[in-house]
Amino acid sequence: MNTFVDSFCADLHCHSTVSDGVFAPDDLARRAKESGVTLWSLTDHDELSGQAMAIETARDIGLKYLTGVEISVTWAHQTVHIVGLGVNPTDATLVEGLRETRAGRAQRAQRIGNRLAALGMPGAFEGASAFAGNPELISRTHFARFLVQAGYFPNVQSVFDRLLKDDGPAHEPMQWATLEATVRWIHGAGGVSVIAHPGRYKYSQTQFGGLFDTFKDLGGSAIEVITGSHTVPQFKEYAQVARHYGFQASCGSDFHSPEDSRIQLGSLPPLPADLKPVWQDLV
Ligand code: AMP
Ligand code: MN
Ligand code: MN
Ligand code: MN
Repeated sequence: MNTFVDSFCADLHCHSTVSDGVFAPDDLARRAKESGVTLWSLTDHDELSGQAMAIETARDIGLKYLTGVEISVTWAHQTVHIVGLGVNPTDATLVEGLRETRAGRAQRAQRIGNRLAALGMPGAFEGASAFAGNPELISRTHFARFLVQAGYFPNVQSVFDRLLKDDGPAHEPMQWATLEATVRWIHGAGGVSVIAHPGRYKYSQTQFGGLFDTFKDLGGSAIEVITGSHTVPQFKEYAQVARHYGFQASCGSDFHSPEDSRIQLGSLPPLPADLKPVWQDLV
């Protein structure tokens, strides 16, 4: 008797060289498939330009695919990430909204470089730029990779912990898109909105309530429960939030590179069985 059973594994959050991941979309598609992912989404930050390659490669290798994007939002003076799944990657309003959201990243990167120079680490703007696969998308991750390569820090996480975290000395805050516009763009492009890694935000309980209520009022329907950005206790905590608000649940590794990712592609624990998976209405 053949006891081998093909198991389902959704990984609906990861990054390629189009944003701050280290593998190109086609390479990532193949790695996802080899890692046992059966339903995949590439969700680069504020960018859709990797979608065509992801769609094509996924089709060629027989991997089920959902289009995706992770949009940077400012809500109550903090950055929140909203994932859009199943969007039309050529929707003009979404594409233009993302272009506006990316604008200002290059100048912000110059300012981060200046801060690092003042802290005794010169050349970081040029160094980070060399790590960025997309000149329109220089992120803090590229600075962190440069500072590790230059020998200042042992790993990317230590750079964030010491310098680049949201209240760190080298961080340059940005005014990203509004939650309202972001959800409107995603829904206008035929997608569903998902609050990414809610456990990462430093909101008070009241603010969290405000975020979930506002998101729901706008038509947002899902949150990430299982993500590489959550601790194991947070898997349970946000499963409870999904139940309380009636949100569907999503899961994704938030994979960027083999070195800096807590969960590797396809190594996700399953969603709690009573939650409705976000992909149920999408595939
Ligand atoms: P940016 O969009 O340039 O502000 O960079 C955000 C990216 O930096 C995120 O998508 C993560 O990849 C990474 N990041 C942000 N905060 C942290 C943190 N505290 N620890 C590790 N990585 C982080
Ligand atoms: Mn990232
Ligand atoms: Mn994120
Ligand atoms: Mn991400």
